[in-house]
Amino acid sequence: MFDVAVIGGGVVGGLLLRKLSSYNLKVCLLEKENDVAMGQSKANSGIVHAGFDAKPNSLKAKFNVLGNKMMKGVAEELGVKYSNNGSLVVAFSEEEIETLKDLKQRGEQNGVDGLEIVYGDDLFALEPNLSKTAVAGLLARTGGIICPYELTISAIGNAMDNGAELFTNFEVVKIEKGDCYTLYSSNGEQISAKVVVNCAGAGSQKIANLVGDYSFEIGLRRGEYILLDKESGNFVSRTLFFTPTKKGKGILVSPTADGNLLLGPTADEVLENVTDTTKDGLESVMVKAKQMCDKVPLYNAITSFSGVRAYSDKHDFIIEESKQNKGFILVAGIESPGLTSAPAIAEYVVDELISKLLRLNKKEDFNPIRKPDYFFSRLSIEEKNEIIKANPSYGRIICRCEQITEGEIIRALTENPKASDLDGVKRRTRAGMGRCQGGFCQPYVAEIIAKVKGVSLGEITKKGKNSTLLVGKTK
Ligand SMILES: Cc1cc2nc3c(=O)[nH]c(=O)nc-3n(C[C@H](O)[C@H](O)[C@H](O)COP(=O)(O)OP(=O)(O)OC[C@H]3O[C@@H](n4cnc5c(N)ncnc54)[C@H](O)[C@@H]3O)c2cc1C
Repeated sequence: MFDVAVIGGGVVGGLLLRKLSSYNLKVCLLEKENDVAMGQSKANSGIVHAGFDAKPNSLKAKFNVLGNKMMKGVAEELGVKYSNNGSLVVAFSEEEIETLKDLKQRGEQNGVDGLEIVYGDDLFALEPNLSKTAVAGLLARTGGIICPYELTISAIGNAMDNGAELFTNFEVVKIEKGDCYTLYSSNGEQISAKVVVNCAGAGSQKIANLVGDYSFEIGLRRGEYILLDKESGNFVSRTLFFTPTKKGKGILVSPTADGNLLLGPTADEVLENVTDTTKDGLESVMVKAKQMCDKVPLYNAITSFSGVRAYSDKHDFIIEESKQNKGFILVAGIESPGLTSAPAIAEYVVDELISKLLRLNKKEDFNPIRKPDYFFSRLSIEEKNEIIKANPSYGRIICRCEQITEGEIIRALTENPKASDLDGVKRRTRAGMGRCQGGFCQPYVAEIIAKVKGVSLGEITKKGKNSTLLVGKTK
């Protein structure tokens, strides 16, 4: 019997699991896919929003500003790349300058420090590649960037190192309520828990319905992106947003925490949680990116992708105990700024909701530190040499674009939460995320997976289920 079962291995469920693992509790995470960070937390803009956008007094405003303040510390503890690069909302007309003033006032009401409107030459001094038709910008010094799946994976790994359990391929399809909750998977497994937290993103309405809670509905809105090579990573320094209109925030042009340049996302209502990209979507990203920065080096595009936002009909985060179900907590409708808010949401759920249901005692040996040296390429030559001396597999580069070593790939396959396929290795190490997108390294990575897992090459998948790489022998 678990004390707490968290449903959903995204950034919210992941950081919640980590927080829970700091107490003397038996906790687990249930994820329907074969890996964690497979929903919204896999494909988003990676922006640590300052907090001027959300309506004052909303949960979004509260947790955005708190989460923004916590993110640097969390990233340091978990060894996750984060940069406080700042952001600019750019105005292209007098009318848009009025919106910037409103945003600044709203941000100040929300508790965002250091907001300033900059004009003319001051604006271009900050961002020389901004289109010369821009007239002003709202500078948010507290804005940042982080890699969302790296944060999710590291948080879950850290929680597991502190005793939490992870069940992947566990799609919750039935829940029975008695003295505790019994959760059944589509494969027929079951686990029981005193408290359940529903962090299932796009699946959170279905999960709530399983316990007779019909208090909210989830809608889906897809966002498509174009990612540019690291050669263009310094094209802008800050995250550049358009001034929001009634139609939404529009696309952004931003460096990523890994040093690429990101353009997007679109915002299109969809009926299914399918992460396709479309010709029209990507074309509209290119058109808007050129409006923001007319010289944007589109020729450096290396890939495109999309993510699907799961928003609720409440137009705010839903973070509360289900009215009909004591011990069943809803953490739903966590759309943007959910990544930014996740550390603060995790604290709130434990301190304000779970503490009323379970006795919480701090674990004396809880270790909040994951690994500051998680990415080998970030180390100094001396540090690298030391590691190679102890373990020569760190001296063999497998992914040339991103300079990822065999040692890191083996580590991704053997440490919590263990990667099981090519994409899992890619998200943990960046092998295959560079300019050639795995063209050179993929066969070598597949061989390492086969060796470490003790399986044949034919069994290696790209992303679980029916995605095997090889279909048969030619010789
Ligand atoms: C295009 C886009 C751009 C965004 N940009 C930003 C940004 O720049 N900054 C920001 O702060 N936020 C941003 N967000 C929002 C942010 O990504 C989300 O708020 C955050 O990732 C939500 O995390 P989560 O853990 O709630 O959900 P998810 O990451 O979606 O995780 C839910 C998990 O539950 C699992 N699941 C579902 N059903 C079941 C079931 N029945 N059984 C077991 N498991 C189940 C899913 O497989 C999934 O892994 C963006 C979102 C999108 C889509």
